[in-house]
Amino acid sequence: MSQIKDLNMRTKPQLVPLGTLIGRELRKEDSVGKPTIKYGQAGLAKKGEDYFLIKTDCERIPGNQSTSFSVFGIFDGHNGISAAIFTKENLLNNVLSAIPEGATREEWLQALPRALVAGFVRTDIEFQQKGETSGTTVTFVVIDGWTVTVASVGDSRCILDTQGGVVSLLTVDHRLEENVEERERVTASGGEVGRLNLCAGNEVGPLRCWPGGLCLSRSIGDTDVGEYIVPVPHVKQVKLSNAGGRLIIASDGIWDTLSSDIAAQACRGLPAELAAKLVVKEALRSRGLKDDTTCLVVDMIPCDHPVVLPTPKKKQNSLTSLLFRRKSLNSTSKGTNKLSAVGAVEELFEEGSAMLAERLGKDFPLNSDSGIYRCAICQVDQPPGDGLSVNSGPFFSPSSKPWEGPFLCTNCRKKKDAMEGVWKKLNRNRVGRF
Ligand SMILES: [Zn+2]
Repeated sequence: MSQIKDLNMRTKPQLVPLGTLIGRELRKEDSVGKPTIKYGQAGLAKKGEDYFLIKTDCERIPGNQSTSFSVFGIFDGHNGISAAIFTKENLLNNVLSAIPEGATREEWLQALPRALVAGFVRTDIEFQQKGETSGTTVTFVVIDGWTVTVASVGDSRCILDTQGGVVSLLTVDHRLEENVEERERVTASGGEVGRLNLCAGNEVGPLRCWPGGLCLSRSIGDTDVGEYIVPVPHVKQVKLSNAGGRLIIASDGIWDTLSSDIAAQACRGLPAELAAKLVVKEALRSRGLKDDTTCLVVDMIPCDHPVVLPTPKKKQNSLTSLLFRRKSLNSTSKGTNKLSAVGAVEELFEEGSAMLAERLGKDFPLNSDSGIYRCAICQVDQPPGDGLSVNSGPFFSPSSKPWEGPFLCTNCRKKKDAMEGVWKKLNRNRVGRF
């Protein structure tokens, strides 16, 4: 460090562009005003298929503590534990490797939603290659400064409780029973949705996808169920005001019993560790232990007020929604949770489409100058002409529409087509024609 400084002092003073100065000021503000993160975890196992991840020492630039960020995740496995464990161990690295190197903080946060999509799909492909059949939900939360980015598949949930006492959902439930859009997508991609059929035609239980009988429309794993159960996450990115807030991330063992509001209210005013225990206790009180129950509570506390979140005096009225600032034009998720009731939370990004062309963008990631293309999902380098063309249209794809996304390697391209039911539709057409 000191050497660099000396060198600079010997050279002539140079004019610094205004943009650089502003950028420096913004970064300074960010590092000074970062929240303190306090967290707690609690849970009780029934089947032993819930896993969680807490990592508060991540760094955007390795070795540089001022670039630190935190990651929290819940993985609720089904049909075995291997998908949950594999995802816990590999997802973060797969996400981070999809972010272009040398990105500034702003660029990094902007690239994160796409990197999460790439990381989820890559983890699913890698798990499939193991030849195991279990699956897992994933609720994955990245906190950098006041910016919270949540990516989720399945029915574990992340809620945000702000200082004003307004509770909002940052995830979408990918349960076939709850989600009409997902039912339509699964059906259009070749799956069948219906209830379990007992003898005498009696249908019971929640809506499931057949073959396989899974209640979820998105997950990582579930190799045996069908490719229309996709690992493409719903992603939401918000920026909290520096008044702070609390995240409650939990598996369905909690949410089958408690509403978001009740869970938030049950633990307000308590430190995170106690709060997590209380949410679990509250969930078990009414129903007993029916399922794995895991809860993470994460408090983002302003540095200058290192106290637990106070209990709000009274519930805010609907005028609060007027304070909400919506920034993103990218939001296409319909019929889901609304953050519009949250005062002073800035919504930066929301997208839930299962179509990779919409999620990965055309310009991602940058192709290198060497003429080698990097797959936007698995980050494997592939020379052009080796496998599929970059601009592969109908000649290279069974899809009727040319691929409009970034370069994908042969393997990831196959995965994309399978998820979107392209092969199935083609076969159907052929059956119809002959
Ligand atoms: Zn690939």
